[in-house]
Amino acid sequence: MSRPLIADIDLDALRRNYCLARDQAPHSRAMAVVKADAYGHGAVACADALRDLAPAFAVACLEEALTLREAGITQPIVLLEGFFDAAELPLIDAHRLWTAVHSDWQIDALLAYRPRQPIPTWLKLDSGMHRLGFAPEAFEARWQRLAAATEHVTDLHLMTHFATADALDAAYFRRQMACIASLRQRLEAPVCLANSPATLAWPEAHGDWNRPGVMLYGSDPLEGANDASRALEPVMTLRSEIIAVRELAEGEAVGYGGRWRASRPSRIGVVAGGYGDGYDRHARDGTPVLVEGQRVPLAGKVSMDMLTVDLTELPEAGIGSPVVLWGEGLPIDEVARHCDTISYTLMTGVLPRVPRRYRNAETG
Ligand SMILES: *Cc1c(COP(=O)(O)O)cnc(C)c1O
Repeated sequence: MSRPLIADIDLDALRRNYCLARDQAPHSRAMAVVKADAYGHGAVACADALRDLAPAFAVACLEEALTLREAGITQPIVLLEGFFDAAELPLIDAHRLWTAVHSDWQIDALLAYRPRQPIPTWLKLDSGMHRLGFAPEAFEARWQRLAAATEHVTDLHLMTHFATADALDAAYFRRQMACIASLRQRLEAPVCLANSPATLAWPEAHGDWNRPGVMLYGSDPLEGANDASRALEPVMTLRSEIIAVRELAEGEAVGYGGRWRASRPSRIGVVAGGYGDGYDRHARDGTPVLVEGQRVPLAGKVSMDMLTVDLTELPEAGIGSPVVLWGEGLPIDEVARHCDTISYTLMTGVLPRVPRRYRNAETG
């Protein structure tokens, strides 16, 4: 027997979610975003599961791209933030990576470096996110400079990122789209615009390429779900078991600080899994946990290695009862709301001590 906590990862669900992203945008190509170790799901396993489906992958940095290359992934890989140092260019060249560029120092470095083959380059427009990229009035000059440097740069694309594509209020999204539209037309630029929410909710944002990320892992990124987002399936199920049960009298408290107090005689179950595994310590009392497939409320502060649930309404549960912290039967988005966070932080926060168990690795 070993500690029962595992992250169960269903690679068939990943493939189905990828196909959904692809089918939402039939005139685009969908690159699978597998940064941050595929949002905590394991970048190599996920890229491997998608290798016959996804024409390209996207990561945050060179190290993440090299991990995929070392695992035998041969598709194009885009560095979403480009390189952080000009010294990365020889490896970008040698491994045939694609790079974003968002700053003049990157353009200078790219044009000072003579690659074996011109490097596919995505020029980043700041259309309103105000994080990376060139302002609309500065963009065209950079575009022309890169377009002219045919020994250094090829396959130039306009890339931009949306700040509010998930929101029901479309006003800011429309402002970003208007900013993109005029440049795109004037430069006849191929574009890559859409993240997951725009892939799901905004067909007008579908470009030559889209960049779905979190939806591949089954989280619904939309403030207002639609039919497509409701069809997404969880990829990670964080499973554990009840390892102990306590009978408490009315008035007794549970856990650090005694935050939860029994308002009646209560049965408390202890689950193997805590913030030292990546379960969010901000989870409030009442956060749903599945025990024997039934929802029970979290009761008391999350500890490093354990958390506690109120089993009073579930007398059949006992030591060894299966527990789901999120995933199949319990949407991660719902758990995230109880933790005042988003699914992204929960997924990427699953720590290395949690074993990943992969299901359906072979293409079905
Ligand atoms: C992470 C990221 C994405 C994917 O976003 P999701 O919301 O997970 O779909 C797309 N584009 C860029 C630039 C990113 O950094």
